[in-house]
Amino acid sequence: MENCIFCKIAAGEIPSNKVYEDEKVLAFRDIDPQAPEHVLLIPKQHFDNILEVDGETFAYMQGIVKRVANELGIAETGFRVVINTGKDGMQSVNHLHMHILGGRSMQWPPG
Ligand code: AMP
Repeated sequence: MENCIFCKIAAGEIPSNKVYEDEKVLAFRDIDPQAPEHVLLIPKQHFDNILEVDGETFAYMQGIVKRVANELGIAETGFRVVINTGKDGMQSVNHLHMHILGGRSMQWPPG
């Protein structure tokens, strides 16, 4: 999608610190990390948010979460997956992305 920063990252037009990539998805380090490990997982196809994505793509992403968590070494200690959605969800980039956060103890409830 035009003017979508994550579409441009997926297309390699904007550089990113890649953790995992295949033909369907890209995982890259967040530019403003909120935890020692903070990776964003996106589908290469543009979906605005979790309400728009199809189940097959979402299920595929779930498998990649597992893979990325293993590669980051946080599968054993635990981690958090966050999908901010819309205005109240504080979504700032309107291209579906999962935040994968780990490497420290998280807090609950979130702010
Ligand atoms: P959200 O607020 O849930 O929409 O998350 C968007 C995330 O994208 C934020 O955590 C930003 O730090 C991150 N971000 C924005 N631009 C970039 C970029 N060029 N490379 C990596 N992460 C980015």
